Amino acid sequence: MASATATKLPEVETYLSGGLISGVVGGEDWCGSGDKTFQSRDPGSGDVLAEVHAYTAADVNQSVDKANEAFKKSGWSTLAPNDRGVRLHRFADLVEQRKHVVAQIEAIDAGKLPAHALGDVENFVESIRFFADMAQNVQRRNQLAVAGHEAWTLRSPWGACGFIFPWNFPILLMGWGIAPALAAGNTVVVKPAEDTPLSSIYVARLARESGMPDGVVNVVPGLGSEAGAALSANPGIQRMSFTGSPEVGRLVGESCGRNLVPVKLELGGKGAAVVFEDVDVEATAKKLVGAITFHTGQVCCDATRWLIHQSIYDDFVDACRQEMQQVNVGYQLDGTTTMGPVVNSKQRDRVLSYLEKGVAQGADVVVPGGAAEVDGRNGFYVKPCLLSGSLGNVAAREEIFGPVAFMTTFDEESEAITLANDTDYGLANSVWTTDLGRAARVAESMVAGNSWINSHNVFAKGVPYGGIHKSGMGGGVNSIETLFDYWRSQSIVRPL
Ligand code: NAD
Repeated sequence: MASATATKLPEVETYLSGGLISGVVGGEDWCGSGDKTFQSRDPGSGDVLAEVHAYTAADVNQSVDKANEAFKKSGWSTLAPNDRGVRLHRFADLVEQRKHVVAQIEAIDAGKLPAHALGDVENFVESIRFFADMAQNVQRRNQLAVAGHEAWTLRSPWGACGFIFPWNFPILLMGWGIAPALAAGNTVVVKPAEDTPLSSIYVARLARESGMPDGVVNVVPGLGSEAGAALSANPGIQRMSFTGSPEVGRLVGESCGRNLVPVKLELGGKGAAVVFEDVDVEATAKKLVGAITFHTGQVCCDATRWLIHQSIYDDFVDACRQEMQQVNVGYQLDGTTTMGPVVNSKQRDRVLSYLEKGVAQGADVVVPGGAAEVDGRNGFYVKPCLLSGSLGNVAAREEIFGPVAFMTTFDEESEAITLANDTDYGLANSVWTTDLGRAARVAESMVAGNSWINSHNVFAKGVPYGGIHKSGMGGGVNSIETLFDYWRSQSIVRPL
């Protein structure tokens, strides 16, 4: 079948061909004070998409000042919640109107299949609407029944909130992060990943176009070691949120600790899928192969350790092999592609090196992975891979962040729970069985932020999502608790 490659939309051509791309600060496209730039590449072709201004530490600090000024003077923080809701809905409506443009920018910049990129943009819109509506329905003053006193609590926005995001879900994660902060009346400063800054900058321009006051949504592009470090070390940031690797999360946590700034860390994972003997083997294999190949396995909450009941192991492996043969590795915009590239050469090398290290430590290769070639494309491609063996193996213990799963077998329920919990991470696991009593029991025994039943990667708005241990701390995303995180709490008391 001939593959159809989508052509760039005129708006995307205009955006990418307009010369150096700047951040958005104080409502303006601002190139910063320095002359440093960095390149954003198409992971599927290796081609440079755009040259972007790299903010210095001083530029980031100035941006934080602008965000705090907007908090105090733009009227955003003191708007009635319903008025703020109207503004946020206008912003969401505008992003929705341009969703195909934002999605194509995201697809090209992050190496995503167009349908997945579109889903991420729709998720961004949904996040803004969800928190805009929720904030209007939460009591911010609560009267307390205390003998001898009149007393109440009050929730108020903090000020400028900082966000540092990774490259795997740039626009979706930006929505998860900034939606509750903005709905609560804060202003935001966003540092996108240097591999994928383009959708965040475009959407910040849409915030301005939708009539959000200047300085409420700021995007500061730059390198992690300079712009990211400066943002997390800035004492003017009132609340910090970081999504990314545990290694950088520690650095961000240290900086915030020094400034006594509350911080939320959303970090990596090494989730387990526990598959019992009563499942539909083919359907379960299809879903788990689908999960590990979705966005080429660059998903923090993926199931990368598969614990399969001994009695169905051979059939399960056969079903997985068949599913993996259907995976078509290719350029993300080609119509026949089912799995695109990884984000850059460093990430491809990381995946390949874990395969080597895993095999060197005795892992069996069930479905061989390795580098993949795509005709006419000089991008960063790998094949999906299945390994098996002892869960002590390095490929079973450390986050690879590619389309690689590690399998092992179990006999007893208790053994499966012990194996699932034998990890430094604590993000997301799943249990697969038709016995719903057992499903609930195992799900509750898994020590992690999230347990899913007969599915993996489930994100219903309103359900909290977050990690523990090496996977994160400080509260999660997507629920009413997240909104509360973006209000500081104050008690007010008068003795009677
Ligand atoms: P990363 O930690 O290398 O980078 C994340 C961000 O931090 C980037 O914007 C980067 O520029 C910035 N950064 C780098 N050095 C910095 C420093 N010294 N100070 C401040 N900021 C700095 O992560 P990545 O490679 O972009 O993303 C992959 C990781 O993200 C994986 O571990 C994945 O599991 C995790 N992740 C977690 C979640 C979640 O919700 N828990 C979601 C997506 C990704």
